[in-house]
Amino acid sequence: MRYPELSYWLSSVDEPLVPRPPLPGDTDADVVIVGAGYTGLWTAYYLAGADPTLRITVLEAEIAGYGASGRNGGWCSALFPTSLPALARRHGRDAALAMQRTMQATVREVGRVVAAEGIDCDWAYGGTVVLARSGPQLARARAAVEEAREFGLGPADLALLDAGEASARCAADGVLGGTYTPHCAAVHPARLVRGLARAVERRGVTIHERTPVAAISPGAAVTPAGTVRAPVVVRATEGYTPMLPGQRRTVAPVYSLMVATEPLPARTWERIGLAERETFSDHRHVIIYGQRTADGRLAFGGRGAPYHFGSRVRPGYDREPRVFAALRRTLGELFPVLGPDVPVTHAWGGPLGVARDWAASVGYDPASGLAWAGGYVGDGVGTSNLAGRTLADLIRGERTDLTALPWVNHRSPRWEPEPLRWLAVNAGLRLMFSADAAELRKDRPSRRAATFSHLLGH
Ligand SMILES: Cc1cc2nc3c(=O)[nH]c(=O)nc-3n(C[C@H](O)[C@H](O)[C@H](O)COP(=O)(O)OP(=O)(O)OC[C@H]3O[C@@H](n4cnc5c(N)ncnc54)[C@H](O)[C@@H]3O)c2cc1C
Repeated sequence: MRYPELSYWLSSVDEPLVPRPPLPGDTDADVVIVGAGYTGLWTAYYLAGADPTLRITVLEAEIAGYGASGRNGGWCSALFPTSLPALARRHGRDAALAMQRTMQATVREVGRVVAAEGIDCDWAYGGTVVLARSGPQLARARAAVEEAREFGLGPADLALLDAGEASARCAADGVLGGTYTPHCAAVHPARLVRGLARAVERRGVTIHERTPVAAISPGAAVTPAGTVRAPVVVRATEGYTPMLPGQRRTVAPVYSLMVATEPLPARTWERIGLAERETFSDHRHVIIYGQRTADGRLAFGGRGAPYHFGSRVRPGYDREPRVFAALRRTLGELFPVLGPDVPVTHAWGGPLGVARDWAASVGYDPASGLAWAGGYVGDGVGTSNLAGRTLADLIRGERTDLTALPWVNHRSPRWEPEPLRWLAVNAGLRLMFSADAAELRKDRPSRRAATFSHLLGH
């Protein structure tokens, strides 16, 4: 496996991607964690910090950061996949607000650890600008701000921008306005996950790479090389979860794909802006996301790759030439200054995890010793840190503000069996795409797409 080819980010880390030694054979631990992405590593980090006597083993099928954590858009944001109104409906307004405020604090917590551990991940706390480039998008920007106000969140949390203010941050084509939140940092995601792995090792945790876990059960993580027996077993496998026995319908792996340009000249950046390295998007239905990298590239991604029958996850699915071409075209539409031949140098993708009710969750069952976290959809960079801190509290039997949050021990329903799952996910994607195209053409909202987003609870 040529790991640097998995993403622009993994190709630009500050270390050779040599796998750590695999599990040599049967062993014991106090906690075994399956998966060395952000979720597994943050859990190890906080557990080891809280109780340095714990023997913690992390088992990773490939290398730390192989999954979405080494490939994502690098938005360390306060976004949470369940909206505030949906959380409020299920758990009450106070619980929803507590979740939102904790997510905001989580961005600061990641920044604190990055500084404390000396993780060189190009951290830039520049916020997020979401542009409105059509009438319906502008209506959605206004609605987002109104919704925030109803929950008592002021302009310091989410501000409505007019065309001039939005363009001053990100001078895309045809900007009519937008929204801005300060609660996001742009990061180099692979440097974050790789730095975190080293920080975890400094805390005495053992990481075995190239060690795929074939099965998880109470008290054991079984691999072809041997079994790790531990009273606590943490599943931190996100988009790869369906490959574990018994987990096929737990989350649907949905692919997000990205491209990166070559480093752009200073005169181009003068035209585009993003001077504070704000992360950026617009208010269309099918999510797009971008950041200005520390070395002056545009890293830009979107969903829209097809969901694969049977929740299959394969390396070949990371690359969809049709989606890469669409991303490149969209970048050119947003920033005509890039010219007709947008200078893309890297293209990649990876699976993220979507629960049936679009709700991320973190949980621990003391009776079985089984713990899990995930279902973050596209918001796992920040949320996984909160998951790690929460799991550390849950596993140690502490009742804290974190363990009282509404996502704790939430059980999402399982996805439908095939072919219903395939039909539902792909039909929804197609509907949202055609709605966005229609809006940009005719500048009017699509009721059907709004209904579909609502059905998915997003
Ligand atoms: C292209 C893309 C862009 C994204 N952009 C953003 C963004 O900008 N902001 C944001 O917040 N989120 C984003 N996300 C989502 C975010 O990256 C994920 O939510 C987050 O990285 C999940 O971390 P994780 O540790 O739970 O999962 P992963 O990083 O996927 O880690 C899971 C790990 O478990 C390992 N594993 C799986 N099965 C086994 C097994 N059986 N045995 C051993 N090891 C196993 C895998 O190899 C992998 O390393 C994006 C995702 C993608 C794919």
